[in-house]
Amino acid sequence: MRKLILPLIAAVVAALATTTAATADPGPVTVQDVRAADGCYTWGRSLGQGASGEDVRQLQIRVSGYPGYGGVLAIDGQFGPATAAAVTRFQQAYGLGADGIAGPQTFGKLYELQDDDCTPINFTYAELNRCNGDWSGGRVSAGQARANSLVVMWKLQALRHALGSRPLGVNSGFRSVACNNAAGGSANSRHMYGDSADLAAGSQGYCTIVRQARNHGFTEILGPGYPGHDDHVHVAQGTGRFWSAPGCGV
Ligand SMILES: [Zn+2]
Repeated sequence: MRKLILPLIAAVVAALATTTAATADPGPVTVQDVRAADGCYTWGRSLGQGASGEDVRQLQIRVSGYPGYGGVLAIDGQFGPATAAAVTRFQQAYGLGADGIAGPQTFGKLYELQDDDCTPINFTYAELNRCNGDWSGGRVSAGQARANSLVVMWKLQALRHALGSRPLGVNSGFRSVACNNAAGGSANSRHMYGDSADLAAGSQGYCTIVRQARNHGFTEILGPGYPGHDDHVHVAQGTGRFWSAPGCGV
């Protein structure tokens, strides 16, 4: 019996050890522990209210999808109450300790969520620009259009996560003026600023996307029932709220 039981005990102990390692608090991880892991941007200090600087701005880009219903988080490098609330919502969305302070756990999750080019893992610059390769010809500089699209992608990542992490397809993102004309876009379309994305229905359905998008920092949300938007959901960031999807009760 002894020969049979000992290996069994060993196997149970090994299984317990594996389970424990996967779920236990990893202990005091420092900012420095995780910073080396990332190829895009690394934070060198924890950030809370009162902090300011480029590291705050980089954080704001990545939590811009968590401003609360109807909100828009300013990406200004100043860590105030709105940024703390966005960090808290991000932490809650990913099951982290929700204290509104960005420290090692929050940065670690952001590193997991970003590619080396700083886009969130489920979206790409190529996907957000099917118009041309260099982001030129819009209503803002190429660099600005690309930067705007990065913020859009982080908002889309938040939306995607909130809807169960199922694929969320982007049919159209940045458009040069020429591309916008060819697509029949409106004369003041945010697509020309890199501020927009047109979304496919995916498995979520247009109306689910429309309703949820209201929580993730989009000032424009157009969908079923709004002229020309029965076959996609348009989301954009800009000034002034314009939400219309009568077919979804919005
Ligand atoms: Zn659009």
